[in-house]
Amino acid sequence: MKKVYAAPDSLSAGHVRNLLQQAGIDARLRNQYLTGGVGDLPVNECWPEVWVDDSDELRALSLLAELKAQTARPGPDWVCPQCGEVNEGQFSECWRCGAQRKSLE
Ligand SMILES: [Zn+2]
Repeated sequence: MKKVYAAPDSLSAGHVRNLLQQAGIDARLRNQYLTGGVGDLPVNECWPEVWVDDSDELRALSLLAELKAQTARPGPDWVCPQCGEVNEGQFSECWRCGAQRKSLE
């Protein structure tokens, strides 16, 4: 078995496990009941982990990379219609004047 994922992250371990199972990979959760209960271990040893068979490791990792890329993509920068300020894609209103972002569609 190989560990392909450990929470916390932008994705929950349960979600990752479900996704891999939908792709036909026999993914298992470990540590899901230990979170917050073990004071002496380093925190990252208590995180829920997702494990797969050795033969599924590469496929699982590439699926995860795809999923993270989708989740992390904030969208393109946009220009405020009111003051002309350039704002990063994750903001829905202008940081400078507070104007709402207009849909590009
Ligand atoms: Zn503005």
